[in-house]
Order: sequence, then structure tokens, then C-alpha cells
Amino acid sequence: MINLLLTKFKKVLLLLIIGAMVFTSTGHALSDDYFTWKVEPDHTETMVVQQRQCEVIIRAGEYQGKAGKRIYVNNSTVNLPSDIPVRNDGDGKGFYVSEWDINVKEAKALVTKLQAQGINAKLQVAYSKSEDLNAAGRIANKSNPKLYVSVHHNYYDANSTGYFAMYNPNNQASKDAANRLSNAINNNGKVPQRACRENTGYIGELNVINSSTVPVLLELGFFSNISELEQICSDSYVEHVSTNLAKEITIMLREQYQ
Ligand SMILES: [Zn+2]
Repeated sequence: MINLLLTKFKKVLLLLIIGAMVFTSTGHALSDDYFTWKVEPDHTETMVVQQRQCEVIIRAGEYQGKAGKRIYVNNSTVNLPSDIPVRNDGDGKGFYVSEWDINVKEAKALVTKLQAQGINAKLQVAYSKSEDLNAAGRIANKSNPKLYVSVHHNYYDANSTGYFAMYNPNNQASKDAANRLSNAINNNGKVPQRACRENTGYIGELNVINSSTVPVLLELGFFSNISELEQICSDSYVEHVSTNLAKEITIMLREQYQ
């Protein structure tokens, strides 16, 4: 009995010594409250674990009012649902639709469906330049989700069409997730599927994410193409995309990242 107590005491002492060593060598562990210690009762291993505050973050790409991320439209002929604002800056250039509004509609629908399926999903929306792109990754890292999905729509020319997913080429899980999410929505009957793309440039959302989070960026159609703009804003497309992404994300979280 005494031997057993001594063995236990040694283990506890060892834990305290290792804990003290790591605490002194990593100062941030003391200041950031989302870093915690995980000490299994029967092991002498000590490691730093950043707690997950949610399973998945769905980010609405861009920020409110971002210049350049807009398409000018004829407000008397364009066919858009009432929750997509047609804005006028009063600068004489006319009426426009902002990418951010489309991203917010799709991201909100997706988060609502994920939550209804019991997933701890968080919506990340930016209202100013200070929360754009690179900052978006750093903001997401504080919640340390298993999966980070950023919802965007694309701008090129009036005939551009199709959706695709982007991934971090240095992260196989990011590539796999991009393929799964892209394939989940390929039968939408409106916006054609294009091949997934590597993020060869610097997109902070995909590069500054913690290694414990799998990042994917979705470009869900071209808003520079007026007929595709009408499709991607429509309730039926948003319903199809959010339903099928939510299903696939739920499967991924339950099967792959537990
Ligand atoms: Zn965008």
C-alpha cells in the first residue's frame, strides 16, 4: 500500500515538474485562456491543447461595403429576391449588388442547417476592412474549429460561369475536403462544377489557419455574369447548396475529424 502511494506520489511529482517546465518555456500558455493543459490520469505526458470552441466556422467572405467586390445592375430588369439588396452609393454609377451580401445569405443558410443537425457551427461575418482575408484566418484560429469554410462568389467577366473549391496545396486534408464539398453540390442544375484549385497565391484564409483546422474556400458562382448572379442569389440555389454542404460537412465532422 505504501509502495503504491509512493508510486502515485512520484507520478504526481513528475507531472508537476514537467508542467512547471513547459509553463515557463511557453509564456503564451499562461496569458491565452484558450490554451489549457490536458493531463491524462494514467499518463505522465503533458501537452498543450487549444480548446475547440466550435466544430466548424462558416465565414461569409469579404466585408460589408468592400469596394470592387460588386456588380452594377439594371435595377428595373434584374431578378433578385428581396433579401439581396440592390444598393446605390449615390455616386452616379448606378445600382449594384455586393458580393458580401450574397456570401452572407449563403453562409447564414448553411450555419442554420448545420445547427439544426446538431453541429456546433459558428458564423463569421466581417463589417470592416480590419477583419478581411488574412485577419479572417487569425480570428477563426481563436475558436480553433475542426473545419473552416469560407463562402465567396466570383468576379471575372460577363460570360464567366461555374463554381469551384480552393484548398491549401500543403495540406492534403484541405484538398480532400475541397473535393468532397465541391462534389456535394454538383447536381444543382444551375451552376456548373469546375475543378478544384490550389491556392497558389497568398490567401490568408487558407494559409494562416492553425494546423489543427482544415480550411476550404468556396467560390460558388460568378456574380459578374448577370444570369448566374440571379441563380446564385435565388432561394432555390441557396437552399440546394446549403442543404447539401450541411449534409456533407456533418458527415465529414462525424466520420473524419472526430
Ligand atoms: Zn470573395
